[in-house]
Amino acid sequence: MDFSMKRRTLLKVIVLGDSGVGKTSLMNQYVYNKFNQQYKATIGADFVTKELQIEDKLVTLQIWDTAGQERFQSLGSAFYRGADCCVIVFDVNIQRSFETLSNWREEFLKQADPSDPESFPFIVIGNKIDLDGGNSRVVPEKKARDWCASRGNIPYFETSAKEDYNVDEAFLCVAKTAVACER
Ligand code: GDP
Repeated sequence: MDFSMKRRTLLKVIVLGDSGVGKTSLMNQYVYNKFNQQYKATIGADFVTKELQIEDKLVTLQIWDTAGQERFQSLGSAFYRGADCCVIVFDVNIQRSFETLSNWREEFLKQADPSDPESFPFIVIGNKIDLDGGNSRVVPEKKARDWCASRGNIPYFETSAKEDYNVDEAFLCVAKTAVACER
């Protein structure tokens, strides 16, 4: 295919959420189709890239991962600034990780300081729906959807990075939403 005539777009995507909810796993599954059972806390910040085509546009998603621990929040505004989309991940099996969604959203808006906070594109992901066959889930899907609906209809996806369920769909939505906001 001849991409020379196509427009190229670089989109910066920030992935936030408590430590251990599966941020790194989701990114690894999406970009490398790999899942690693071993837990390895992310130190500082890092990014991976993925190219995809949306309509006539070649899009490069630059996906930034950060550790959820408070001590890493000093990453500060340079990390957040210029973001085109913010993905907030929680673990459907851990109530606390759902309750901190608001904190992550506020922290992002404070640090990134987007020109129009009301319409800045967020995506929420409820991850690990595979765990214990769904028996250890504590956050009902409806509760998560209601939370998203009451904050300007944030798109919501339920995923399993382990089983590669809905991961591509979630990031495709990220790309489409960010492209739409760019226009
Ligand atoms: P992060 O700290 O948010 O980046 O979380 P990680 O990606 O490091 O994942 C934390 C732990 O949860 C690791 O042991 C992963 O293997 C595991 N994990 C991540 N996603 C899933 C998932 O969808 N299902 C299950 N069962 N485990 C997962």
